[in-house]
Amino acid sequence: MWNIVAEMDFGKPKTVLLLAHWDTRPSAEHDDDPAKRDNPIIGANDGASGVAVLLELMRVFKENPPPVNVTFLFTDGEDVGPSLNEMLLGAKHFAKLANPKDYWYGILLDMIGDKDLRIPKEPNSVYYARTLVDRFYRHAHAIGLGETFPDVLGPWIEDDHIPLNQAGIPTMNLIDFDYPYWHTTQDTPDKCSPDSLGKVGRAVESFLRSERP
Ligand SMILES: [Zn+2]
Repeated sequence: MWNIVAEMDFGKPKTVLLLAHWDTRPSAEHDDDPAKRDNPIIGANDGASGVAVLLELMRVFKENPPPVNVTFLFTDGEDVGPSLNEMLLGAKHFAKLANPKDYWYGILLDMIGDKDLRIPKEPNSVYYARTLVDRFYRHAHAIGLGETFPDVLGPWIEDDHIPLNQAGIPTMNLIDFDYPYWHTTQDTPDKCSPDSLGKVGRAVESFLRSERP
């Protein structure tokens, strides 16, 4: 397995970690059709949506740098499974090698391409990184994205942000877990929306640009 790490060093005093998983689930265990449950998923939303936004942010920040350095982390092995022991593998590896002092905080994007996008506050993120979560949601509200980022708690999610938080990098997970095609062969691009990707991309971009480290 391979994590892909890209560092954009703009000579700023602090560095933010932006991450998404680039692997997809090798088995569609929630597929309606039992014959398809051993098939891998396409992962248009569960995987590719976060990667798409990160790639666009790289292009945007290259043209016009934010006031922070940005490390982009594309994790592998997030969704191997079947159990949690065989998941989050790339993030666990990165967390083991990283010096937490190198990062101000992290933002994880996962399943953010859904057509009716709604990203509530994720409770593990609030537990580990409350200040960051509150600052981000206040910012999203201030730029008119309060409906996409409502100030309510969503479900607890075990995701790549857990090992990073445990290693000392405060990291929040932006995720819309309300997605009927999760871990099915129906997780395909037609279920996603460029508008949703744009909202998340603009929220993260604008948040980083508003920072005064
Ligand atoms: Zn998944």
